[in-house]
Amino acid sequence: MTVAKQTIVIGAGIIGASVAWHLAKAGARVTVISGSGAGGVATPNSFAWINASWGNPEVYFRLRTRAMAEWTRLARDLPTIPLSWCGGLCWDLPVAELETYAAEHSAWGYGIERVGRERAARIEPNLAKLPDFALHVAEEGVAEPVAAARALLADAQRLGALAHTGTVDALTLAGERIAGVVVSGEVLNADEVVIAAGVNSPAIAATAGVTLPIDAPPGLIVHSRPHRKLLNGLVLAERLHMRQTAEGRLIAGSDFGGGDPGADPLATAHGLFAAMKAMLRDADGLEFDFHTVGYRPTPADGFPIIGRARDGLYVTVMHSGITLAPAVGLFASREILEGERDPLLGPYGLSRFTR
Ligand SMILES: Cc1cc2nc3c(=O)[nH]c(=O)nc-3n(C[C@H](O)[C@H](O)[C@H](O)COP(=O)(O)OP(=O)(O)OC[C@H]3O[C@@H](n4cnc5c(N)ncnc54)[C@H](O)[C@@H]3O)c2cc1C
Repeated sequence: MTVAKQTIVIGAGIIGASVAWHLAKAGARVTVISGSGAGGVATPNSFAWINASWGNPEVYFRLRTRAMAEWTRLARDLPTIPLSWCGGLCWDLPVAELETYAAEHSAWGYGIERVGRERAARIEPNLAKLPDFALHVAEEGVAEPVAAARALLADAQRLGALAHTGTVDALTLAGERIAGVVVSGEVLNADEVVIAAGVNSPAIAATAGVTLPIDAPPGLIVHSRPHRKLLNGLVLAERLHMRQTAEGRLIAGSDFGGGDPGADPLATAHGLFAAMKAMLRDADGLEFDFHTVGYRPTPADGFPIIGRARDGLYVTVMHSGITLAPAVGLFASREILEGERDPLLGPYGLSRFTR
């Protein structure tokens, strides 16, 4: 009888949770170590738009659309995941660029509908300011990120994974191979260690001489108190991106779902909240509740780092982690357990930075 592979996953955000769940589901022995508890650090501060929208090359579009399909598969396995294919109404580019995006992505198979004012009003009846021209993508959606991570981790534990609260101080080596971790002074051994520690990943990797080029730009999101339903889906307008969460909060961020907080984040948050309120009809009773500032784990070229960094060490660090999580978990577990690297991961190895 073969003994199941022992794996350690560092991180319990959406990426660590997905990797851990897929490993446990495939029969590996899994220990998840997290300093933050279930739910992560960037993950709770995310806008959580699942998309393959404008601005990326086709090869990355293909990974993102595969990840979108994998969300549907994951939600079938775990129906408690709050996933909604609510659609996205987008006019955050000048019209000519919207047209270019629509032509390019439609040719790639993305379900883009070109809409005018009347159709936009039917999609989002509570918009006070309607666009003359926008693009609607019905297949875009949202997974409430903390609830999704918690559902994955809870089910991973049901499948036998162990959850360990603590801080990984260092990776350990046995010859040239990564042999485990030191966590809060205790040594834990594994056949494979997965770093899914978001913006803190470089510090952990550095203890084994591995350099991860990760930036951490901030993103501010403003939250209203829960309110009766005003939005059906994602609204990606020129000034801001907004949506309504499963618990009824209207949330907004500028610049790709969460912009620069500036010198005075509270003032920025109130300005953004006022702009969101002005975009909605019948929103007089909408009240500011709080804002978050999250740090996006962003590899230096903007694309994910997914793959083996050295023997016994696998890295999964990325922006758009909410979109990508189900595919990353599936592909990482297959590569770790079966040695099979999905072709869609081709461009995303760490070695691209050293070549
Ligand atoms: C404002 C904002 C808006 C965003 N909008 C979107 C969006 O619309 N769509 C989208 O797809 N993505 C979006 N993202 C990106 C997405 O949220 C992230 O890519 C994703 O949450 C990263 O998840 P993660 O699990 O890798 O990291 P995190 O959630 O940061 O989790 C890291 C985990 O590692 C643990 N950890 C770190 N160091 C250690 C250590 N030494 N020992 C033990 N544990 C450790 C932490 O405790 C935590 O559990 C957004 C991000 C932000 C900030």
